[in-house]
Amino acid sequence: MKKAVTWALVLSLCLALTCVPAMAEGTYTPGTYTGTGAGHENGLSVTVTVDENSITEVKVDVSNETPLIGGLAGEELEAQILAAQGAEIDGVSGATETSGGVKRALADALAQAMGGAEAGEKTAVSDGSFKGTAPGFGLTGQMTCEVSFEGGKITDIQVVEETDSLTGEWFANAEELLIPRLIENQSLEVDAITGATASSNGIKNSVARAIDAAGGVADEWYTPIEKSDKTVVIEGYDVIVVGLGGSGVLSYCAAADQGASVFGIEAAGKIGGNSVCTYGPMALNSEYLKNLFNNGEDYINPDEVYDVWIDYVESEDKADIISEAVYSSGKTLDYYVENFGFEFEGRGLLGSFVVPSWDKEWCVYSADPETGWNILGPNKTFQFLRAMDLAMAKNEKNDYMTELTGEKLLFDDAGKVVGVQARYYDGTTYEIYGDTVILATGGFLGSNEMMMEVYGSCINAMGDTVNDGTGIRMGQSAGGATYMLHTLPMVHISQVANLIRTDDLTADQKAVLSALALTTDMPMVTTGGEVWGNTNQSGTEDDAVSVEIVFAPDFMYYNIYTQADIDSIRESGLSEAQAAATSFFLSQGGALPAAGTPVSDIDEILKVGAEFKDVLIADSIEDLAAQIGCDAAVLGETLGGVETTYYAVPCTSWSYGTVGGLDVDINMNVLREDGSPIENLFAVGQDSEGVCNIDGKAYTPWGGQAQSWTFVSGKIAGTAAAAYAMD
Ligand SMILES: Cc1cc2nc3c(=O)[nH]c(=O)nc-3n(C[C@H](O)[C@H](O)[C@H](O)COP(=O)(O)OP(=O)(O)OC[C@H]3O[C@@H](n4cnc5c(N)ncnc54)[C@H](O)[C@@H]3O)c2cc1C
Repeated sequence: MKKAVTWALVLSLCLALTCVPAMAEGTYTPGTYTGTGAGHENGLSVTVTVDENSITEVKVDVSNETPLIGGLAGEELEAQILAAQGAEIDGVSGATETSGGVKRALADALAQAMGGAEAGEKTAVSDGSFKGTAPGFGLTGQMTCEVSFEGGKITDIQVVEETDSLTGEWFANAEELLIPRLIENQSLEVDAITGATASSNGIKNSVARAIDAAGGVADEWYTPIEKSDKTVVIEGYDVIVVGLGGSGVLSYCAAADQGASVFGIEAAGKIGGNSVCTYGPMALNSEYLKNLFNNGEDYINPDEVYDVWIDYVESEDKADIISEAVYSSGKTLDYYVENFGFEFEGRGLLGSFVVPSWDKEWCVYSADPETGWNILGPNKTFQFLRAMDLAMAKNEKNDYMTELTGEKLLFDDAGKVVGVQARYYDGTTYEIYGDTVILATGGFLGSNEMMMEVYGSCINAMGDTVNDGTGIRMGQSAGGATYMLHTLPMVHISQVANLIRTDDLTADQKAVLSALALTTDMPMVTTGGEVWGNTNQSGTEDDAVSVEIVFAPDFMYYNIYTQADIDSIRESGLSEAQAAATSFFLSQGGALPAAGTPVSDIDEILKVGAEFKDVLIADSIEDLAAQIGCDAAVLGETLGGVETTYYAVPCTSWSYGTVGGLDVDINMNVLREDGSPIENLFAVGQDSEGVCNIDGKAYTPWGGQAQSWTFVSGKIAGTAAAAYAMD
């Protein structure tokens, strides 16, 4: 547990260190200390090594903030901290939230090095209401909170402006859960709501600015929150489901339907996971859809789907599972419609992202009639909540908890899985015991460490970063093997490396920056300095493959502009291709000028872009190679050796999630390396979707298959786990 510490004291100490680098003797206990903090995302840390009087080494980890090129801001901040010998640093332009988080993490680490300090008075804040603005998750605007103070305390927080709810209902979850906790604890150190980190940190950072506006010092309000050290034991369940996104809820329902007692563990503040942002699952010849839209007639030939699928994965090793995924998809959808109230609308056109000729029609979730639907502004959580209510009613013991994070499997002396250890947001440890465990934690997109292990590179996340590989690690801890773990992450969206969520550029200027990243008419260069292009890496015969970028080394490439190109844009405008280059799903709301219209503010756009690491500006090939981190000779050859000022604009992949996971059999039983099943352990959804895929290729290329797998694998696992437990 962290010792109580006055942030004002620590920061003023840091200030003193800035002015007088040689501190009074014995300020620190020599050693290495790590402080943690939050910027835009959680998980930022600063590790300092100190001797008695000074910081001798510092390591800033901000990789969660900007996974692809976050290291750049980190290095700059490290240099500043060493020079300042404390937290009085300028920070990095374009990274206000990150810089603030780093200062607080440093203060935390130094406080530990000083053995803690007693809590002190906060600088007074005026009574009244004050506003603060900071970026949240919203793509098209910042968040503003109005904070009321009375007698030095926060009495009310109202979010008065936000665009977060346009892109997801997680915002409502953050608002509902976080604000009462901030007021109750009178501290900004309250944890972000899991699953709604960016919105939560947007609220906290807005409140911090309101505190400053009220005359206070926000850094003093990060007072430690006491965590519970209690352990609660829950016993006697037939089935425990870890993760209540799509596949977890669907597993839960199927198990409950068999009469099993089921306990669900969900880390986020609400259930649904990524599965509430989908367009809809593939469902072949579902009776429900046939009757709704096709006069009761079949609408697709499943044999054709099966054949294409087997061709794509180049193996019949998992033919039984693929067969199930094809031939049961319609029936499974019908089962959940009939028994758990799911609703789907229309056979919306959801073609293939890899094989455009696979332009088949599946279905879409029906939306809340009042709010309509959009792919990132989901209003489908109600479907999952309704299904859970129906499932809970099937056995009075059935229960589930949100904000409870599964951490590890529990084993008996013989090595058999007997339950799950989990942690509640308040710190309480839960030991939940049951006969079977279903892992449904949605893959490993949220773990930069695992991404590096598997792909040697991180990726920008558009899907849930709560999904950090815990389920896969749990399976491995029981001896489970993985299958096609190197299937490429789900990507069909490209954008700039760092979305600029502040007002440093207008929406229209952001659109131009985005077009410079997305256009396909400029020389494209890999992170290795080699030529990249729309060369159809996916190995299909079709052009215009929308997942192409996922095949690029490090999931990104640079569009390269010379000074002459930029001059031309300033004077003669964007090319036709550039003026048509907009981001699919990640648009920030601006409009591009028509081709040929001079872009007089291009230099400002590039300057701000450079601050946010969305543009690298170099005055020679050597300089550009150093910034990209590639061999100058290789890059020189790629660029034809022309010496000029270069502008490299990274075009990066934004991923929904990972695909490869644990190896499973037809019952969704996790398999050991030798192929034998771990009989009471199951894996579903993205924790086992490798069985439908192949290493080194994009995920199965027809729209809706990923979501379809949550239905098919969930139904199978829930039924099988219940049968095993109740046998
Ligand atoms: C924006 C978007 C659009 C998409 N559109 C489509 C589409 O149209 N069609 C399609 O087929 N697929 C689509 N996908 C992919 C699809 O959503 C996923 O393949 C599918 O939802 C995966 O389901 P899942 O149950 O494995 O993961 P999720 O639904 O993400 O569920 C995982 C759950 O586990 C929880 N969790 C994680 N770790 C823990 C832990 N340690 N303890 C407890 N709980 C934990 C998470 O909070 C989450 O609730 C889309 C994805 C995104 C992000």
